[in-house]
Amino acid sequence: MTQTPTARLMDGTALARRITEESAEAAAEIRRRTGTAPCLATVLVGEDPASVTYVRMKRARCRKAGIESRQVALPASVTTAELVETVTALSQDPSVHGILLQHPVGPHIDERAAFEAIAPEKDVDGVTTHSFAAMSFGLPGFVSCTPGGIMRLLDAYGVEPAGKRAVVVGRSAILGKPAGMLLLARDATVTYCHSRTADLAAAVREADILIAAVGRPRFLTGDDLKPGAVVIDAGYNEGNVGDVDFASAATRASLITPVPGGVGPMTIAVLLAQTVEAAGRQLGTAA
Ligand code: NAP
Repeated sequence: MTQTPTARLMDGTALARRITEESAEAAAEIRRRTGTAPCLATVLVGEDPASVTYVRMKRARCRKAGIESRQVALPASVTTAELVETVTALSQDPSVHGILLQHPVGPHIDERAAFEAIAPEKDVDGVTTHSFAAMSFGLPGFVSCTPGGIMRLLDAYGVEPAGKRAVVVGRSAILGKPAGMLLLARDATVTYCHSRTADLAAAVREADILIAAVGRPRFLTGDDLKPGAVVIDAGYNEGNVGDVDFASAATRASLITPVPGGVGPMTIAVLLAQTVEAAGRQLGTAA
């Protein structure tokens, strides 16, 4: 017998639209006061189809929000030194307020060295060690966009992390790890699970807030969940499916993000919001 879904949907598309409208208003205000529009530089190495699509989407959203975007397209044969030089030049260019270096950059390149060439005040994608450390110490700085989007979703749906058990499945530098750090900063009790976790099912069953960031289609199901859990599915796998089996999880969770339309749209919304914030600080209009 199929069970009826009881969970409320966390609508990332609608929330991302609201955040983007606010960013557009803030961008227009910066332009009115300074004569300069916020500008995001996007750096793309090679022609990986997924990366080309992501960058095109990000640039289109920028345009709609009144944020200029400057694309730097480099050949796949670019060296680490050349890429670092390009990013350094953008870091020093006062007409650029935010820098996005699209991952992946190719196996022959030292990606970390290229990320570290992004000036902290322009790291609107939250990829530098400086940004990660600032986030971990609770200092001002930009957060990694997907975890930032997850926190905004929790806030928008009235989920208070303090005192809750949060379980993050996945520990990548751009997603799992920072998501856990942000939840910890909000006083959740955080458990990280990964490929070497001994009893993943036991940990997941404890979760009041579950963040799935594994990259495996329908890796977690309703049976794995504590009844009433808040389920954030950051996974995005082939066939438009998440890391959580939505149909079964929606019969156990209290709140759940759909895939697509949950975490995905939030990532770009946070990127735009942080670009406008960076421009405001650099152009002296920030409050
Ligand atoms: P990743 O770098 O491949 O990391 C995957 C993590 O999952 C790793 O920490 C890995 O553990 C863990 N893992 C893999 N298999 C596991 C298993 N059987 N049991 C427990 N843990 C396991 O991936 P990512 O970049 O974080 O992305 C994760 C997912 O989120 C992907 O579907 C990706 O497409 C999606 N994503 C979405 C957005 C968005 O904007 N919505 C942004 C970024 C990523 P180890 O560390 O031990 O290897």
